[in-house]
Amino acid sequence: MQKNKQRLSGQTCIVTGANSGIGEAVAVAIGRDGANVVINYVSNPEIAEDIAHKISKDCLCGEAIAIHCDVSQENQVEAMFQKAVNHFGTVDICVPNAGLQRDSPLHEMSLEDWNVVLDVNLTGQFLCAREAIREFLRRGMRPDVSRSLGKIIHMSSVHQIIPWAGHANYAASKGAIVMLMKSICQEYGPHKIRCNSIAPGAIKTPINRDAWKTPEALDELNRLIPYKRIGEPEDIGRVAVWLASDESEYINGTTIFVDGGMTCYPGFTSNG
Ligand code: NAD
Repeated sequence: MQKNKQRLSGQTCIVTGANSGIGEAVAVAIGRDGANVVINYVSNPEIAEDIAHKISKDCLCGEAIAIHCDVSQENQVEAMFQKAVNHFGTVDICVPNAGLQRDSPLHEMSLEDWNVVLDVNLTGQFLCAREAIREFLRRGMRPDVSRSLGKIIHMSSVHQIIPWAGHANYAASKGAIVMLMKSICQEYGPHKIRCNSIAPGAIKTPINRDAWKTPEALDELNRLIPYKRIGEPEDIGRVAVWLASDESEYINGTTIFVDGGMTCYPGFTSNG
């Protein structure tokens, strides 16, 4: 492979929950475009090491390393950023992506299941965004690599606007990401930090296996998608690279829905 200037050359990106599904695809796409990548994981270290190895081998411009961290734990998030800075010098891009579901009817939902989902999906994204901003401010501008001081790309969901019965904790966590993201945009835009979200629709990953594992389930799912196919993790990876690059420099404080049209209420196609 020819070593040439790519859109993210010379930059370093932390992707949380990067040893599975969407996080893995984002990490691979960002690595292919020249950045160093931190593959954050909380379980299955061998998979994280394998992904890091493959990215480092394929992408001659960048290097990938795996770092363990539970994103809901403040001291672990701080330590992950410190390790990344020690290894790569700084962090330029942060993709707080780690997330999980603990589904149940609301009247049966335990406080523990509520807290686990909010701790990972919301507090985890806050902690990572905060550490990223601290590092961007400490490091200062690097006009040779980017016109922005730093970029944060939150992984939200169509459920930031579509209510979801049986998943109130998850929908609440994603609804809150919008205001976290927009508030960061408003507060740190003057420092040339860009903060945006990606809201995936139904993407084929382990988190929603029940929704695509049989042809019947897939047919049912497609009724919710005007474009009539489930999304692939790479659909999200491509958008993340673009959002991280200077090509999207003037995009700030917005959510990009990558959902095949799921948020266009396809249930109303035939007269409602
Ligand atoms: P996934 O289950 O394949 O990946 C989730 C990742 O998060 C895993 O690597 C998991 O280990 C990690 N994780 C969980 N808790 C963690 C913690 N405490 N610390 C660090 N990592 C942790 O699911 P996915 O579909 O790839 O989900 C990634 C993100 O995309 C999530 O935020 C999810 O809400 C969002 N999303 C997914 C879909 C979809 O259809 N797949 C749709 C909308 C939004």
